[in-house]
Order: sequence, then C-alpha cells, then structure tokens
Amino acid sequence: MSLSDLDLTATTGVDPAEYEKPQPFSRPPLPGAHSFSREGDPDFGKTRGGDLMAKMTFKVLGGEDDGKTFIDRIFTTPSTYRKSTSADDYIRACGGAPTDSTVGAYVDAINSYPGPFAATLKWEGYCKSCETTTIGKRGMPRFQSDEDGVLNHIATCPTCDGKVGAQAKVARYIVEDND
Ligand SMILES: [Zn+2]
Repeated sequence: MSLSDLDLTATTGVDPAEYEKPQPFSRPPLPGAHSFSREGDPDFGKTRGGDLMAKMTFKVLGGEDDGKTFIDRIFTTPSTYRKSTSADDYIRACGGAPTDSTVGAYVDAINSYPGPFAATLKWEGYCKSCETTTIGKRGMPRFQSDEDGVLNHIATCPTCDGKVGAQAKVARYIVEDND
C-alpha cells in the first residue's frame, strides 16, 4: 500500500464545513424504574416561594446502570393534584415520614433517610443556548432511539438547532403501601 494506490480526489470523511465536535454529554441512567441510594449529604436551600429545597446526588443500585449517579432536587411545595410534595414522596419512598409540617421536621427526615428507595426516571434536556428545557417535558420533542432501539442521549434543540444532552430526573417516587 502506498499513496499512489489512493485516489486522492475521491470524497471521504465529512465536509470540513459540517464537522461536529465531540459533545461533553455523559449518558445518564436509562428512563424507567430503578433502585437508588443517596450519595453524601443533601444541599438545602429555599425556593423563590420560600419553601424548602434539597439538592441531592442519587446513585443507581443494580442493573446495567449500577453505580451511575445524577443530581435531582426535592421541594416542600405542595402538588396541585394531591396532598403531597416531592419531599414527602422522597421521604415516604425511603420508608419514613416527617414528624410534622415544619421546615425543621422535613430537614430532619430528609437527612435521616438516604434510601434505598425506588423511583422511575425520565430524561429531560436543558439547552444552554436557550437557557431553558427544550426536550422531554410535556409538549416538547423527546429523545429518540436509533435503528437498534438504543435511546440517544443527545438531541437537537427544536429552537436553536444546538445539541442538548439528556439529564435524568425523577418522574415518580415509588411509595409502597404500609398498611
Ligand atoms: Zn436551544
């Protein structure tokens, strides 16, 4: 093999004007049901409305995503659909309950229950250029599977055409009946 064997004028590779650089998006744990535990301590804060917020790192226990982590937040802001909050759902999924509805009781309960717990995940994509979530929420395009059925964790933003990476979020905590 030498250079003279090559047709140097044949087209190969990609158009240099259309080159796409590697994306710094890591693949989150797959959507669906998993078991989790919390890694480290919660990072507590306040919502704009004055409710408690806790930012936590969750680690997948078992399955093909074993050991993968992601960051999510829970709040003490009541749901409009039922008497609960994401903080209550988290604590109950871990097998506990706050002793009363004070901020201190929620802080104690969240600290006391690092899991394990079960929850289902969804994928959402936050577009850094648009500074908003543009993939995966209600009414938005979803992350797509390739021809082999493998879900692609990178999507194209419908607003700016930029690349958007999937982030795992808890769709629903799984709370067992305890009666
Ligand atoms: Zn965008």
